[in-house]
Amino acid sequence: MKARLFTPGPTPVPEETLLELAKPVTYHRTAEAKAILGEVTEDLKYVFQTKNTVLTLTSSGTGGMDAAVACASVPGDKAILLTAGRWGERWRGVLKAYGANVINVEVPYGKAVTPQMLDIALRANPDAKIVLSTLSETSTGVGHDIAAFGELVAKTDALLLVDAISGLGAMECRTDDWKIDICVTGSQKALMLPPGLAFVSVSEKAWKVIDATPVRNFYLDLRRYKKSIAESDTPFTPANTLIKAQRVSLKKIRAEGIENLWARHAKMATACRAAIAAMGLELFAERPNNGLTVITVPANIDGSATLKMMEKKYGFKFADGQDNMKGKIWRLSHMGYTDAFDVLGAISALELVLIESGYKMTPGAGVAAFQTSLAKAI
Ligand SMILES: *Cc1c(COP(=O)(O)O)cnc(C)c1O
Repeated sequence: MKARLFTPGPTPVPEETLLELAKPVTYHRTAEAKAILGEVTEDLKYVFQTKNTVLTLTSSGTGGMDAAVACASVPGDKAILLTAGRWGERWRGVLKAYGANVINVEVPYGKAVTPQMLDIALRANPDAKIVLSTLSETSTGVGHDIAAFGELVAKTDALLLVDAISGLGAMECRTDDWKIDICVTGSQKALMLPPGLAFVSVSEKAWKVIDATPVRNFYLDLRRYKKSIAESDTPFTPANTLIKAQRVSLKKIRAEGIENLWARHAKMATACRAAIAAMGLELFAERPNNGLTVITVPANIDGSATLKMMEKKYGFKFADGQDNMKGKIWRLSHMGYTDAFDVLGAISALELVLIESGYKMTPGAGVAAFQTSLAKAI
């Protein structure tokens, strides 16, 4: 049976990228290695939509979040944390580890933090040094209005730090236009690579803060990466095999064009939402993003057992809810190297498993709605 991966990280990797990963390992301090990292950096700037350089770290996405907080704050600094789920809570964990004074602006799972909530928090805390948010809250499927957050934060001296780990490359994200000071992403979501690399862009405003902040970390000290990248190099041994493979996946994104890529993800997400509604199911997110669809498990259906059955019988791997959301939601990723026909298959498999579990629906209702939505988008 064919294994089909629909988890919101890791995600499927294109065949030509997998072939690159199979090549012999090479030395990393060569002119060729520098040329490759230089090219990857340029392509990342395009994907981030930034003029600032993008730093490549050998770590999962959280390493980028850790680096951002360690380098841009000191203990006791006031941090406004906008949190709508588990990944906002990850920011909180990082902030606590580095001794920040956290002001929580929190909404229940499934809801989105609004710009108005941030506005109120900024007015109440004019001494805030950093504001932290999540582009795509992968635990609930919510997408945030980062453009509006950026407008508000840019009027203050605070920096805007965005976890764009599952959003960047799947939904619109304009780092410079939206005034994101530190934007973090990881390789294993929409960038079509296995886990192992984090990418971080830093604005001029943020570098001023970072350069004036005492050193608090070593391996992920962004200043070291900035100095090295000026010569297309890295301060430590990079995961050079992954960097070479990332070049291949980034070329795919460049060939498609970032705006076409955002539009394609929007079409898949719209069709997926239409399918869910036609199946009598509900979306979990009130402000859904385009990288994944999160579905509320209907009453009388065992959410976790359904996912296990779908994997065992048909090879489709969706993600369960995390922690206290386990069994309550299904998370279906359509970011990266996943196309509309892959998602159509996922809807078809979900229909079959639900019907087998006693859920009442007309076979093909979701599939038909998906097709109808795609046909309208042509
Ligand atoms: C996957 C994900 C993370 C976690 O990143 P790691 O690569 O596991 O460290 C953080 N934030 C968001 C929004 C994610 O989707």
